[in-house]
Amino acid sequence: MPELPEVEIVRRGLEQHVVGRTVDTVQVMHPRAVRRHLAGPDDFTAAIKGRRITGALRRGKYLWLPVGADAVLAHLGMSGQLLVGDPARPLSPHVRVRLAFADSGPDLRFTDQRTFGHLSFAPGGAVLPAAIAHIAPDPLEPAFELAAVTARLRARRTGIKRALLDQSLVSGIGNIYADEALWRARLHWARESALLRPVAVARLFASVQEVFAESLSAGGTTFDSLYVNVNGQSGYFERSLAVYGRAGQPCPRCGTLVRRDPFMNRSAFSCPKCQPRPRRRVPGGRRPGSAWSRS
Ligand SMILES: [Zn+2]
Repeated sequence: MPELPEVEIVRRGLEQHVVGRTVDTVQVMHPRAVRRHLAGPDDFTAAIKGRRITGALRRGKYLWLPVGADAVLAHLGMSGQLLVGDPARPLSPHVRVRLAFADSGPDLRFTDQRTFGHLSFAPGGAVLPAAIAHIAPDPLEPAFELAAVTARLRARRTGIKRALLDQSLVSGIGNIYADEALWRARLHWARESALLRPVAVARLFASVQEVFAESLSAGGTTFDSLYVNVNGQSGYFERSLAVYGRAGQPCPRCGTLVRRDPFMNRSAFSCPKCQPRPRRRVPGGRRPGSAWSRS
């Protein structure tokens, strides 16, 4: 599944290759790809035809292309790709939507093998489509405010990893990046968010931004690497993972063997020494006694 840095790389590719161009024709090959556009594929097609794309924006894993005051909204789902290329190239069976441009240059193809991704037309959505207005800013956006997020986190009675994955609190952080950022910040995933000091939250989000930045620079910004990255085939970031997927291997910082715990039907990876487990749960969210290790 594409994570936030991969989606940001797609956004950069779109900015470079489709912004400033006018859509000539839209073909919906598979109606499921536009299922979120309730007025149907014909309406979707008519709404976009002839419009000039003026930008490429992102919040969390959503992308949108403003067209005048409106926008085309996209989510890549598990396997979606937005590919730009020679309009004469063969059409793969996984192409769901194709946009051809008035300049007859490279076309834009939304391909999606598993069809969990989708496109829709967002009236009045150039600045922020209404469908995603409930999603909190992600840590790479200028709209991200550490103080506001810290206050919301500390108002929750939940584990810190669960809070990081909550898209209404902060968007774009998936399982991999949550584990990596918690390891960097030396915080156990089960630490209660309400009990974290602001300085620890600041350290955590600095870590989130670091792992995103490293992943982005590792992923490159060329369109060829975009294809590979979004396809999930290059493994460019995997090489630099400290704990995620590394159960039983040494922590790169202290050498202690990384542990895997079950977490929300998935896993949480952590270093038992760098990220000590909180000593006890706090019933009803009361403040703990001195036995609690705080930071
Ligand atoms: Zn360690």
